Amino acid sequence: MQTAIPADTLATDRGRRADAILRTCVHCGMCNATCPTFAVRGDELDGPRGRIYLIKGMLESGEANAVARTHLDRCLTCRGCETTCPSGVRYGELAEIGREILEEQRPNRGWLQRLILSIVPNPGVLKPLVALGALVRGLLPRRYRRLLRPAPRVGPLPDKGRILLWQGCVQRVVTPELNAHLVRLLEARGMSPFVSARERCCGGLALHLGRRASAEAVMRHNVSELADADMIVSTASGCGVTLKDYGRVLDAPDAGAFADKVRDVAEVLADFEFGKRAVGGRRVQRVAWHPPCTLQHGQRLTGLVERILAAAGYELTPVEDALLCCGSAGSYSLLQPELAGELKRRKARELTRHEPEVIATANIGCQTHLDDAVDVPVVHWLELLE
Ligand code: SF4
Ligand code: SF4
Repeated sequence: MQTAIPADTLATDRGRRADAILRTCVHCGMCNATCPTFAVRGDELDGPRGRIYLIKGMLESGEANAVARTHLDRCLTCRGCETTCPSGVRYGELAEIGREILEEQRPNRGWLQRLILSIVPNPGVLKPLVALGALVRGLLPRRYRRLLRPAPRVGPLPDKGRILLWQGCVQRVVTPELNAHLVRLLEARGMSPFVSARERCCGGLALHLGRRASAEAVMRHNVSELADADMIVSTASGCGVTLKDYGRVLDAPDAGAFADKVRDVAEVLADFEFGKRAVGGRRVQRVAWHPPCTLQHGQRLTGLVERILAAAGYELTPVEDALLCCGSAGSYSLLQPELAGELKRRKARELTRHEPEVIATANIGCQTHLDDAVDVPVVHWLELLE
């Protein structure tokens, strides 16, 4: 793709990166085939190719406009387009640049976005709010019931060891038993996991909303405070994909070294054997696997969890359109409820088509998002392993 970005923009790191990405796009449109928002809306500007043109336009004119805001806000940052693109266009990074420009010139100061950014990355605030919500859970719409269920009590997790278990802001509040279970799985295999009170939000939420400075601040904190672990293991693929990206975002050697230590939990457990574990007191056999976008498109870890579950003895039911996002996408389901709802209905239909007894996924966002759309339990895949 030809570009005409002004010299002063090209002189910046952001301008150079954007120009290099834009020049790899051959505007073939193949990416539209795996874009969930294009599938729902059928509008070129709600597909990756159209959004690339909108970002190019902002860079060339130096002006952010309302059209770009609308269509970039509708993008899930699922990166399904990257998986299909034959030219290796780094759309996710380009969208990040587009959002930074929008945030500088046409900032979204909506109350909901501000509320999300002040609550979700702060477990100290989120936890009492969830506990409060659990008291009135029965009065709320079904979609909040999973999020607001009374969390089981778990004992303190080890605070010393060699493998840092990333707790995640939402996961540690909503499903604290998962991290406790993983500690048992790792210890039984001779590893010494620990959690750290110094962990802060990975920064993914702020980064996706164009708040680069906020994202960089928490990233720098994590890099300097958590440097002592030999390995950093993430169970929420949404956190993992951001942690693995620290080297690129911060462009500093210590951030790169930090990122090199990050593993998704599937990478750590792939060579071990597991038995089956009851779900809600019941043995299950048929599992529908929902790979989060952050695992399959972001971390490119396709097939790993499926192999572990199959080796443990589960039967994986076929799922059509597994490349497409379920609509959760961090804060997206709250900020774009109509599109997120439609994508959820489509995903629920495909996941349940072959009558699984349980749906397994790898990210707390997908888990809580899908929960009210299906009549079978939605669990993290680790919960199926003994
Ligand atoms: S991003 Fe890739 S698939 Fe999409 S139009 Fe550009 S080159 Fe084609
Ligand atoms: S990131 Fe997802 S929603 Fe956004 S353009 Fe790419 S495929 Fe479409």
